[in-house]
Amino acid sequence: MNNHHPKKVRVGISSCLLGQEVRYDGGHKNNPYIVKTLGEYFELVPFCPEVASGMSTPRPPIQLRETEQGVRCVGVKDHQLDVTDQLQHCVSQQDHWLASLCGYILKKDSPSCGMERVKVYKDDYPNRSGTGILAHYIQEHFPLLPMEEEGRLGDPHLRENFIQRVYVMQRWRNLNAEGQLNVHNLTVFHSQHKLIAMSHDQHLAHDLGRLAASARKHNLNEVAEQYGLELMACLKKTATRGNHVNVLQHMQGYLSTKLDKEDKTELIDSIENYRQGYLPLIVPITLLRHHFRKMPDPFINRSFYMSPHPEELAALNNI
Ligand code: SF4
Repeated sequence: MNNHHPKKVRVGISSCLLGQEVRYDGGHKNNPYIVKTLGEYFELVPFCPEVASGMSTPRPPIQLRETEQGVRCVGVKDHQLDVTDQLQHCVSQQDHWLASLCGYILKKDSPSCGMERVKVYKDDYPNRSGTGILAHYIQEHFPLLPMEEEGRLGDPHLRENFIQRVYVMQRWRNLNAEGQLNVHNLTVFHSQHKLIAMSHDQHLAHDLGRLAASARKHNLNEVAEQYGLELMACLKKTATRGNHVNVLQHMQGYLSTKLDKEDKTELIDSIENYRQGYLPLIVPITLLRHHFRKMPDPFINRSFYMSPHPEELAALNNI
């Protein structure tokens, strides 16, 4: 099975999460899991939009606020202090390195970095409907780029989902690197990721298969562009236990004539125990890896489903 992963993947990150003292109060929000664990596998590229746009540290805190000109980023105490244009201009100058990333980890709740549910004030009342200026820019200009907030990475399912998307994005970037994209390679890429897509959404995975199969020399670029968008949208949906069970049973089908009765029963029990929540996903996967090592299959060999990211990240152990 496919378990080749590049050494380090470039991932952008809010600087304060790396311990850099760039917050409005001169502090930081060091996140040990990101720094120590993800930092082993990700080349973390720090960026603080507020500092990069010329603000000092420390500085007056800012917030999103509804105004007659729409939602603006203004001072918490002095609403006349409007830094919206300054921040927007700064983030619009970052495409040269944003384009090289395979993911982005953002500080939650920040009017500059927050990915979702950032407080937007109207008079003295906040509603959580905002997106930070940098996060909004990335969503608009780099729609394929996996993004996640540091707080959500504490959830094992969201964490695994983000790490998986980062590695898929890395392979997608490699495929689209100069000279690599052709009809054959797109088909291979789809077969490598078909089971992963199925674990997120069976219907979307089916549509992706049809889309990849429609690629010809004359329409390759349009199909690939659409495929990238649809694949990343599919993977954004959190994989469900039911979909994983379907994928595991699908793989089990490749072994149906090869396993003896005892091994077959053990595998079926392991999938059923996972379905009922008694075992984590890694258990039936480990069993399947063992059988496919002894009885290789070309489709399973190509697939990244059983090794979507480096084993040492242990991201499959708690889902
Ligand atoms: S702007 Fe972003 S990176 Fe800078 S301190 Fe605020 S949350 Fe951290």
